[in-house]
Amino acid sequence: MSGDVVVSNAVIIPITERGRILQPGYVTVKDGVITGVGQGSPPQVGNACSIDAGGRVLMPGLVNAHTHLYQVLLRAVWEDLPLFPWLKRIYGVAEVLRPSHLYAGSLLGCLEAIKGGVTTVCEHNFLNPHADCASESVRAIRESRLRAVFARTIMDAGEVVPHCVREKPDQAFRLIERLLAEQRNISEDDAENRISFMTGPNTPPINTTPELLKEIRDFANRNSIGISAHVAESSSVVEFVRQQHGRTGVVEYLQEFGIPGADAVFAHCVHLSEGEIQILNSTGTSVSHNPVSNMMLGDGIAPVVEMLRAGVNVALGTDGAASNHSQDLFETMKVASLLQKVHHRDPGVIDPYTVLRMATFGGAQALGLGEVCGTVEVGKKADLILVDLESAHSQPINDLFSQMVHCAKSGDVSTVMVNGRVLMEDRNALFLDEPQVIRSAQEAGRELMRRIESRPSG
Ligand SMILES: [Zn+2]
Repeated sequence: MSGDVVVSNAVIIPITERGRILQPGYVTVKDGVITGVGQGSPPQVGNACSIDAGGRVLMPGLVNAHTHLYQVLLRAVWEDLPLFPWLKRIYGVAEVLRPSHLYAGSLLGCLEAIKGGVTTVCEHNFLNPHADCASESVRAIRESRLRAVFARTIMDAGEVVPHCVREKPDQAFRLIERLLAEQRNISEDDAENRISFMTGPNTPPINTTPELLKEIRDFANRNSIGISAHVAESSSVVEFVRQQHGRTGVVEYLQEFGIPGADAVFAHCVHLSEGEIQILNSTGTSVSHNPVSNMMLGDGIAPVVEMLRAGVNVALGTDGAASNHSQDLFETMKVASLLQKVHHRDPGVIDPYTVLRMATFGGAQALGLGEVCGTVEVGKKADLILVDLESAHSQPINDLFSQMVHCAKSGDVSTVMVNGRVLMEDRNALFLDEPQVIRSAQEAGRELMRRIESRPSG
């Protein structure tokens, strides 16, 4: 059950208005929903659980708009490869990947997310050698009590895609419908409804046919689910679309099939033309900017400032730990800020408030949750974090927004709440057995690496 909570004596960054801070501020929560936000002392509320923030920062939980949780098992593996050869290795894992790896890895990914102040993740799922891979990932996410969007995507072509994970669109659609039906039954028993779904072409057009692209938009619309896709991540993907399809860019190509839209989130968008930025804006498509992954794979620098100026909603993501190698959104915020400054050789080109907003409300909006979370305001779900800025690396405070982006670390998050339920208190995870989750993931990771190394294909 979600709780009734009163948090007092906080420094609130509500992300409702540029530069707004409430200090000292309070938040009241009833049945998991924010019922009051204000300055000064909170009103008396019956049996609510009372949290004295003691001057800590209270802000919306961070939203990781693009990740592959199980990839924590593959941290720092194949790290010197550019995108295509790297993808060949990552997709090749499918030959030995089992639902148990997805479960153990996803649970560790969720634990890392919670410990770093993330309250919502978008899990972009793309390797399903067994139907249970997707449902075991969802089970882990559900057990973590995080809010999540689970994007069960499809690949139906591509030299680098093993046969065991190439699916005919119809066959994949049936499996996704089955997953949705299974989860709908669970959701009916679970009044909190924390998990929603998307589909999508995984990395068009390098692992999708035009037939799949034609059908997947209709499929998403029929099922009232959104679309998540890897888009224009490297110049090699753009080169591929030029050679194979005679289009100048991936977004331009996808528009032919109606894939962009207000329910779509495109991960990366590193290589875009000006016209393609306009397409993103006019269709209401959101972008998940994943700077650490882009840097790790040598992909390039996304035109974040240009997209923001054009009015595109830009969120932040870590991407999977196989190309990051963490799930740390505080680190991502700092890297996102610095990368634009150095790219434009202009330290004023992006400001810290904009970055904080991208990591919170921008993410919520990208995932169709703009009405649900991403800000601290009455009527939203209480997905909140408390951040302790008393450490040496954060003191003294001169500019709170800048210091949240450039000084604060994921380890400074002391309390995490989703739907008003406290998932972490004083850095202790309350619903996950931390040593056990880590041990199970270590075992699953070792076993997965053994299986990868003993494959006939190497
Ligand atoms: Zn990705």
